Amino acid sequence: MTGASRGIGRAAALALTKAGAHVVAVARTVGGLEELDDNIRKEGGTATLVPLDLKDFAGIDRMGAALIERWGRLDALFGNAGILGPLTPLTHLQPKAWDDIMAVNVTANYRLLRVLDGALRQSDSGRVLMSSSGIVHHNRPYWGGYAVSKAALETLTLTYAAECNGTNVKANVFNPGKTRTRMRAEAMPGEDPMTLPAPEELTPLILELLSPACMRNGELVNFRR
Ligand code: NDP
Repeated sequence: MTGASRGIGRAAALALTKAGAHVVAVARTVGGLEELDDNIRKEGGTATLVPLDLKDFAGIDRMGAALIERWGRLDALFGNAGILGPLTPLTHLQPKAWDDIMAVNVTANYRLLRVLDGALRQSDSGRVLMSSSGIVHHNRPYWGGYAVSKAALETLTLTYAAECNGTNVKANVFNPGKTRTRMRAEAMPGEDPMTLPAPEELTPLILELLSPACMRNGELVNFRR
């Protein structure tokens, strides 16, 4: 799973390992990954830490190849990492910022699917979940870069889901809704974070959507508080 160093991803990694999964935890911040690993071990779980910038597409390929060599299959892919980018009129968004948003929020997830598709199909029940945002369907000013990237991610995921029909693989899109994380604080600095649900509140639904029992495919699933 990606984006495991903090926020929703960290909470999901802890819940998944508590439920018995071995988690391959991807993010850039080594300190965040190590702290996560300490907490996982305290609860008797296990994880493999992968410090990786998801803009390093060759690195994604190397990670995928290593994962396949070690385990031969992947039971679940949670594409949770994301960046907000600057909140600004679309025409003021700098090309570098646009490229970074698309690289992390869209292309990295395409590259993960590309390299891990075979491993997901080797599982009896490969599950894919990609984190989007409600902003896709609101066309709010100044959120354009992020919204366009998440719209592309939704189409990527739902097209992949359609291509998985008739296989053991199921893929869905997840909209966490407003959640108490660094990204939300960055977007809404004036908001009292304590009015928002903690990432831990989302984990039962995330686990359900990643479980072998989940038969949903090609759906956009909103967290409802
Ligand atoms: P955070 O900013 O708290 O966490 C983002 C995670 O993504 C971090 O672990 C970060 O790790 C990782 N990440 C970012 N860039 C990269 C990169 N280049 N390479 C590797 N990892 C990267 O965000 P949230 O937990 O709030 O968000 C999780 C997902 O949920 C995102 O996709 C977001 O768009 C979505 N979402 C969140 C909402 C909210 O209200 N919080 C609402 C709707 C959607 P590191 O910096 O260590 O690399």
